[in-house]
Amino acid sequence: MPMRCPVCDGALVETLVRDLGGVTSDLVWQLHAGRCPEHGWFQTEVISRPPREIFPVNKPFGAARRMIVDGVEVFSFSTAWNDLPAAEQRRRVDPFEARYWQTRR
Ligand SMILES: [Zn+2]
Repeated sequence: MPMRCPVCDGALVETLVRDLGGVTSDLVWQLHAGRCPEHGWFQTEVISRPPREIFPVNKPFGAARRMIVDGVEVFSFSTAWNDLPAAEQRRRVDPFEARYWQTRR
């Protein structure tokens, strides 16, 4: 599981992956969730590409929650995947490569 805590970059515990399957066999479609002991639960969705955002949630695969980070309200954390040029995003990549999952903080 490449997801780390988007606040402290710490390893997540109690990690879960829910495989949602797909209409074609080569489509990867998964929900990933994990808990930072300090910052709570986070989750994201992988649909054959690295995720664009990681969301704070109230429980695994649960509803979004609002977080205050450094005095600022945060609803989601953008990943490094967003920062790649469009041409590179169109390439076929390993959606689980950890560097794409890095958040910007
Ligand atoms: Zn944390």
